[in-house]
Amino acid sequence: FIHFDQVTKSFGTLKVVDKLDLEVAKGEFVSLLGPSGSGKTTLLMMLAGFEQPTHGAIWLDGTRIESLPSHKRNMGVVFQNYALFPHMTVAENVAFPLAMRGVGKAEAAARVTRALDMVRLGHLKDRRPAQLSGGQQQRVALTRALVFEPTVVLMDEPLGALDKQLREHMQLELRDLHRTLGLTVIFVTHDQSEALTMSDRIAVFNHGRIEQLDTPEGIYDRPRTRFVAEFIGETN
Ligand code: ATP
Repeated sequence: FIHFDQVTKSFGTLKVVDKLDLEVAKGEFVSLLGPSGSGKTTLLMMLAGFEQPTHGAIWLDGTRIESLPSHKRNMGVVFQNYALFPHMTVAENVAFPLAMRGVGKAEAAARVTRALDMVRLGHLKDRRPAQLSGGQQQRVALTRALVFEPTVVLMDEPLGALDKQLREHMQLELRDLHRTLGLTVIFVTHDQSEALTMSDRIAVFNHGRIEQLDTPEGIYDRPRTRFVAEFIGETN
């Protein structure tokens, strides 16, 4: 469904992604796990269309992704600094991607209400981001990424800013959303336990390459390289 074919990305002389192959099936939850600077974010940026590969091709559902404008990729994006618009209410924030896609006001309002009710935030729809807790803001950001019914959701450390309890709660909620909506999720994290509990498969990154792509059990029980064993063995 998503296919990276020998993708390389360089910034000047720095090779950040190195002849990378990766296939993600429809409906799969794949985590990209690895140390800082190993190329995980750059991979998401190329999928979202914010960066172009230097070499190689990326395919989405049989189409070269480079030929699709961002809004045709039908991808929801959630980054760590989730940047809600501070001057807009919760409902206005969530409605924004619908307005961008030309959805009419009445229909947008109905979809926003439905989406906010689903994540149990309906009662906060007229508040501004500053009047919400970190976890509530995170849920609004997630809702904003899902409201236009994307087929793929890209998440870069979306739970990084949350405390442990909230983080665990959001992990469950995300898994739930993934399952009920049948979303294909690509999830960047450097938290080993988060990747192990949430993913169908994990890609362990090291210097722009995937050291191992496997199920959580495979990665944990049968690490293929010393790097994977040591990285998984580290505790946070
Ligand atoms: P982290 O977990 O810290 O986000 P990462 O694995 O996501 O790390 P990337 O953000 O993909 O890593 O960055 C990989 C390397 O590419 C880093 O050394 C970074 O400094 C470099 N890099 C990323 N974007 C650019 C850019 N626009 N111009 C130059 N270098 C860049």
